[in-house]
Amino acid sequence: MATFVTHSPEETKALARQVTQKKTSGIIALSGELGAGKTTFTQGLAEGLGIKEPIISPTFILIRQYQTPKSGRIFYHVDLYRLEEDLGSIGLGEIIGNKENLVVIEWAEKAKSLLPEDVVKINLDKLEGNLRRITVSGLQS
Ligand code: ADP
Ligand code: MG
Repeated sequence: MATFVTHSPEETKALARQVTQKKTSGIIALSGELGAGKTTFTQGLAEGLGIKEPIISPTFILIRQYQTPKSGRIFYHVDLYRLEEDLGSIGLGEIIGNKENLVVIEWAEKAKSLLPEDVVKINLDKLEGNLRRITVSGLQS
């Protein structure tokens, strides 16, 4: 496990860009309170993958997908904050099941039952001001 402290959204994105140098498929599980920086981190992942479209909070759409220009894989951005229906009904199992996909899940703790063992877990903690403590586990060094 590695722990980082970032001082700005830009630094958080830079850390996420580094993650995409090691992880181009599979599952990245993000957890942390509202405003901790999960979507910001996801934006950095998308930058690292060369995605030019803006990454926005999925709000009522729980899953958005983006084509990655570099690898040709599909980048899925999932936000389960507003998940009300049965987890099994949103098609996430199939998306996770395709090992070619890179799937980033905000509020991943709500999808525990679907997560494989080799998930990269990222926890973001809000410290004072713009400080965020970010712990990364499960990333091969
Ligand atoms: P979440 O998706 O976890 O609810 P967001 O990424 O949407 O969080 O929001 C994080 C907010 O905190 C943004 O307004 C961002 O500009 C701000 N922020 C301030 N400092 C940082 C930092 N070090 N890392 C990430 N976001 C930060
Ligand atoms: Mg968010």
